[in-house]
Amino acid sequence: MRELLFAANWKMNLGPDDARAYFQTFRARYHRHDGRLAWFFPPAVALEAAAQAVRERPDLLVGVQDIHWEPKGAFTGAVSAPLAVQAGARAALVGHSERRHVFGETDEETKRKVAAALAAGLVPVLCVGETLAEREAGHTLAVVNRQLSAALGGLDGATLGRLSVAYEPVWAIGTGRNATPQDAGAVHREIRAWLTGRGAPRVRVLYGGSVSLKNIAELLAERELDGVLVGGASLEAEAWAQLVQTPAT
Ligand code: PEP
Repeated sequence: MRELLFAANWKMNLGPDDARAYFQTFRARYHRHDGRLAWFFPPAVALEAAAQAVRERPDLLVGVQDIHWEPKGAFTGAVSAPLAVQAGARAALVGHSERRHVFGETDEETKRKVAAALAAGLVPVLCVGETLAEREAGHTLAVVNRQLSAALGGLDGATLGRLSVAYEPVWAIGTGRNATPQDAGAVHREIRAWLTGRGAPRVRVLYGGSVSLKNIAELLAERELDGVLVGGASLEAEAWAQLVQTPAT
C-alpha cells in the first residue's frame, strides 16, 4: 500500500493554548487511516502541548521547526535537538526555505543540523528547493543536487534511510502558486535518483508549496509524491483534517 505523510508546518503561529484547542478538533475530525501519517511542526513553545495531545495516536507525530547544531550552550533564543526531544519532538525540519532565505542559513549549517538531529534520534526532514530566478535560469536540478550533497553528502545508505526530504520550491511557498504535479514529479525523480545512488531508495520525498484543499487531489495523483509539507493550509484544524483525508489513487 502507498503510504502518505501529511506534514503541517505551523511556522510562527499557534501557541500552547491554540495547539490544545487545535488537536481537540483535529482528533475528533480525523481518525486513523491505514497508510496515512500526520506530522505537526508547531512553534517550539507549543511542542510540549502538541506532543501531549497526540500521545495516544501513533499515526500522529510532533516535530520541531528548526534546531541549533550544538546540543547546549550559550546560544540565546536557539533550541537544540536534545531540548526539542525533551519537549516531545520526534522529527526536525532542516533547511526550510524561510530559514535559508529569511535567516541566512547556509548549506554548511544544514549539514550540521542534519547531523545534530540524527545524533538526538530525531527524523530530519531536509527541505530543498530553488528560487524563481534559479528556476527561470534552468538551474532547478543543479540547485537541488547541490543542497542534497551539502547537507547529506558522506552519509551512508542506512543513515540516509532515517530521514525524509521535502522538495519545496521557494517561489511556491506561501504564494498561492503551486508547482504542477508534473514539475514536482520531475524534481522528485531527481531527488530519488540521488538517494538511490547512495543506497537509500526508500526515503520519503514530500512536496511543499501552496498545497491546499483545491490542489491536493491532483498533486497526490502524482505517484512520485510520498506526501506533502503544508504551511498555510494546515493552520485550521477542520480544514487540515479534511485535507489529510483526501483520497489518493
Ligand atoms: C511551508 O511552510 O513549508 C509551506 C509549504 O508553506 P505553504 O503551504 O503556506 O506554501
